[in-house]
Amino acid sequence: MLGELDISLEKAGELKQKPADDNLGFGQHFSDHMFLMEWSRKQGWNNARICPYHKFEMDPASTVLHYGQAIFEGLKAYRGKDDQVFLFRPEDNFTRMNEGAVRMSMPRIPVDKVMQALKALLYLDREWIPKVEGASLYIRPTLIGVDQYLGLKPADQYLFYIILCPVGAYYAEGFNPTKIFVSTDYVRAVKGGVGHVKTAGNYAASLLASEEAKKAGYTQVLWLDACERKYIEEVGTSNIFFVLGDQVITPPLGGSILPGITRDSVLKLVSSWGYQVEERPVSIDEILESAADGRLKESFATGTAAVISPVGELFYNNQTHLINKGVTGGLSQRLFDELQAIQNGEQEDSFKWTVRVG
Ligand SMILES: *Cc1c(COP(=O)(O)O)cnc(C)c1O
Repeated sequence: MLGELDISLEKAGELKQKPADDNLGFGQHFSDHMFLMEWSRKQGWNNARICPYHKFEMDPASTVLHYGQAIFEGLKAYRGKDDQVFLFRPEDNFTRMNEGAVRMSMPRIPVDKVMQALKALLYLDREWIPKVEGASLYIRPTLIGVDQYLGLKPADQYLFYIILCPVGAYYAEGFNPTKIFVSTDYVRAVKGGVGHVKTAGNYAASLLASEEAKKAGYTQVLWLDACERKYIEEVGTSNIFFVLGDQVITPPLGGSILPGITRDSVLKLVSSWGYQVEERPVSIDEILESAADGRLKESFATGTAAVISPVGELFYNNQTHLINKGVTGGLSQRLFDELQAIQNGEQEDSFKWTVRVG
């Protein structure tokens, strides 16, 4: 048992060979241990344990495999100077997961206990946190329904688990703007649906559009609203920002957009830097017109994986539109540098975003 936490600990007998820090990629390597706990309607959460990373045995009738009761989170542990380890706003991830759980008729997780479990897991697998600049340990909490029952109803049994995955520097080849394909054929989410939830089906539904965009030479898809295909929502699995004149603008959260933690951090940072900030509907026409007449200074996407991803080009209705001449903008660069420095514990953290865990 880990102290008074009621979390049992089984250490791996043999540790895995760790990959080299300079060739990690994303999502390919998994650490030695995982956290796991179970929920049943009778018992609530039980059997919390840190154990060796292992495969699940699953009944082919398991709810998650048919009806998609699955939500996940994504956050990172960063290694700063003197081997200090930091998390960035981790409780916001678990709070967001619980909001998603309610929408998907799943049980909420106990945030305090899960935070303690995560800290213990990170301590045990601390050697897996990369030392190379820009690399980090990606943390993937997941909640799935596992009833062996084919009727459609909320499951009576769930698994919650956390796995860890060392990931390479996102910008190993430079902080370069992306080319984005504005999708007019497909939509991601609709108000009243589950677009604001990190639920598995949203990502399955997005694959065809992003594969088509990639085939055409674009990095990602820009999603428009599902009703009018007029207002900008998100780009790929990131939120989107525009610098219009001296205003920083992002579409408002309204049920179809994922409430990104990076998005929220950017809004707070740029306000503190004296920018005028607006969360308001932005139409694709407004953006293309302001790109043409020079009012659009820059655009960037935000998310945990890349932090800030400058947008250099939009392709819409068979036409290419350059933003900031296809070059990374000053605010994109400043935000990237500032957020990375806060996450690594190098920059004063006046918003109290980082949690030191080691
Ligand atoms: C995860 C995600 C984001 C970004 O959220 P962060 O909390 O900033 O990582 C944005 N859009 C979608 C669709 C996402 O899944």
